[in-house]
Amino acid sequence: MSMSHYPNHYDVIILGSGPAGYTAAIYAGRANLNTLVLEGIERGGQLMITSEVENYPGFPEGILGPELMEKFRAQAERFGAKLITKLADKVVLNQGRPFKVYSEGEEYTANAVIIATGASARFLNIPSEKAFKGRGVSACATCDGFFFRGKEVAVVGGGDSAMEEANFLTKFATKVTIIHRRDVFRASKIMLERAKKNPKIEFLLFKEVAEIYGDEKTGTVAGLKLRDSRDGTIMDFPVQGLFIAIGHDPNTKLFEGQLELDEKKYIKTLPGRTATSIPGVFACGDVQDSYYRQAITAAGSGCMAAIEAERYLESLS
Ligand code: NAP
Repeated sequence: MSMSHYPNHYDVIILGSGPAGYTAAIYAGRANLNTLVLEGIERGGQLMITSEVENYPGFPEGILGPELMEKFRAQAERFGAKLITKLADKVVLNQGRPFKVYSEGEEYTANAVIIATGASARFLNIPSEKAFKGRGVSACATCDGFFFRGKEVAVVGGGDSAMEEANFLTKFATKVTIIHRRDVFRASKIMLERAKKNPKIEFLLFKEVAEIYGDEKTGTVAGLKLRDSRDGTIMDFPVQGLFIAIGHDPNTKLFEGQLELDEKKYIKTLPGRTATSIPGVFACGDVQDSYYRQAITAAGSGCMAAIEAERYLESLS
């Protein structure tokens, strides 16, 4: 097929710029594929909002999330991937090749697409939450729990994530309070029971976080104003950390109606693979993984997607 009438044609287009997207770009570049990465506007993914990353192998002293992502990016660039800090705003994947991706009116085409658009933690959407992100407010206990050694923290949510994060945080914190807006839990029985049995965990029910306030000297979280979900009364709750565990949403709006998604709107991939419901379209990282959600697993699946894309392109020629 002649691609001459497609001025922005690539072998592979990668959407997303977290560990999965950049790793796919490194592998695709090294395989000599003409590779475009549409990084989105806020490039770097979820690690950009964490501080120190201590569990990424190869960095025994730890590394700052944004610094790690700059290294991923530089490595992708070194092997020839073209990186554009723009957001894909439309895709056409279900009308044969070449696949089409649009950004700000520009059309890009490719015979393989790798989707690595990730997931975003849900936040409470109260103004003070933004101000204290990275200063006592976190959406990731695995990332930030370590910094709360010897402190008292709260976890918002009533699902498995909240239970899991609360249990994990008891390794560091002296006390963990689970704040939930009802007395009914979405969490599985076993996870709820484990949290209830943990002597360091307390439950505060029928409460919503109305406001987060800080210590004037340190600028970090000092406490919460909690609103009773039954009668609206406000109480003060001093605490040094707030973990928000109210779920994640995969960034799949762009693909709805084209690719098969699961009931939680994550992209469906073949077991142990990155192949989606459309041959030539691959998905890696958190956009297809609601279970592990780690930088290293995302990077691993980015590598898999690039290898699968390379073999797919080979099979076309
Ligand atoms: P989830 O099950 O959807 O639970 C979200 C929780 O957050 C609910 O209790 C919800 O309260 C609360 N919530 C939502 N928005 C809120 C808001 N604005 N303010 C206050 N509370 C709010 O999400 P998840 O816990 O992240 O779990 C997601 C999936 O991953 C589940 O299928 C879970 O089983 C799975 N998972 C499994 C494990 C494991 O097995 N190890 C660990 C983590 C997650 P309401 O109930 O009142 O709506």
